[in-house]
Formats: sequence, C-alpha cells, structure tokens
Amino acid sequence: MTDLTRREQIAAGLAEVEARIAGACRAAGRGREELTLVAVTKTYPASDVRILSGLGVRDVGENRDQEAAAKAAETAGLPLTWHFVGQLQTNKVRSVLGYADVIHSVDRIRLVTALSREADRVGREATCLVQVALDDDPSRGGARPGEVPALADALAGARGLRLGGVMAVAPLGEEPDKAFARLRELAQAVRERHPGAEIISAGMSGDLAAAVANGATHLRIGTALLGRRKPFVR
Ligand SMILES: *Cc1c(COP(=O)(O)O)cnc(C)c1O
Repeated sequence: MTDLTRREQIAAGLAEVEARIAGACRAAGRGREELTLVAVTKTYPASDVRILSGLGVRDVGENRDQEAAAKAAETAGLPLTWHFVGQLQTNKVRSVLGYADVIHSVDRIRLVTALSREADRVGREATCLVQVALDDDPSRGGARPGEVPALADALAGARGLRLGGVMAVAPLGEEPDKAFARLRELAQAVRERHPGAEIISAGMSGDLAAAVANGATHLRIGTALLGRRKPFVR
C-alpha cells in the first residue's frame, strides 16, 4: 500500500468522524469547538501518526507505554499533544511522563503519589483525569464512583499534577447514554469542588454521539479513523 493510499484512507476516516461529530453537536446543541478529538493510534505505526498530524489532528492517544514511547520519539517535532489512555502501572510512570501531557487513567492513590513525585522531580506539569469504572467490573481499570472525590482531591493537591476532570469507557451491555449520564453527574460533582476540572473524556468509535449528548469534552477515537485493529496484535 502506498503512502498516498493510506493518507486517503485516513483522510476519509477523519472526514466521516468529523461529520458524525458535527451531527452529534447539532443534535445536542453544542459547538464543535467544545470538543477535542483524540486519535487513538494504538497498534498503528508512527507513519499513521504523521499522516494524522498532516491532516490537522493535534491530539493522539495510546494505551501501552512501550508502544507509545517509541511512537512519540519517532514523531518528535510534530505539534502533537500525547494522551495516555490505558491502564498505568506505577513502574511506567517515569516513561509515560516523558511524553504524555494528559493521563486519562488515574484510578488509585498510589498512582497519584507516583505521578506527582516524578512530575515534581522532572519539573513538569501533567494533566490527570480520574478514570471511573461505570460498572462493577474494575478489571478494565477505573475507580469506583465512590472513590472519585478522594482521587480528585488528591490530584488537585498533588505537586506537578493538574486535575483535568474525569474519564470513562462505556460498560459493555448497557446503553452508553445511561452510563455517560452517570459520568456527567460525577463530573459535575468534581467540578463543584474543583472548578478548573472541566474535562469529560468519554466516547469511542461506537458511542461518540451518546458522549457528545452527555457533555463529553474529549472523544477518544481509534477504529473509525484508522480501521479495525487486528485481534491479538497489540
Ligand atoms: C482503544 C481505545 C479507544 C478507541 O476505541 P475505538 O473503539 O477504536 O474508537 C478509546 N479509549 C480507550 C481507553 C482505548 O483503549
């Protein structure tokens, strides 16, 4: 496949995603400028990141540190903001803070402590979101809703970190609209205590309209932009 073909494919994916976002914004009475599109590039090569950047995408997301670190290094110099959206182990914190500006997946106090210590050590500020598990299955990451206030307070008070808001993945087997409505309530409660925490990271390829309808500010879109990922290849 030539680069041109791949560029055309990605441009078509981007146009379709933008059309869906525009439709969702119209339906919800919101403006496109209220939303940040994060292109989730996991399993796809750095060359795709370069193409996305050339098409005007400014935010990219990854869920595994090793892959993300390599891609960020390969595309250094492009005007990109890197988002880390995957489950994060404390022993990866140093590496992740080397490239990520926004970490969507903070779900326990130990992680706040580790991130803060490292951000403070290297003298940079990272924006962190509290990831919430919207079902009772924390195996995919995320804090229980009851743990969100304490995590938000901890992030807000941590040196080197900025509390950005909240993030969630819609649970399987539930209307995304219902799940994202709960996320919006949690986000509002966080914002009452921390007015700067305005980010709601919700919405993937299959449920972006429900996310837009429920106040999302950041959409994390992979498949609809880049195509279906190969199973078992991560
Ligand atoms: C892979 C991933 C996405 C993108 O999902 P698509 O369905 O491919 O759009 C979004 N968020 C997280 C946390 C992911 O791991």
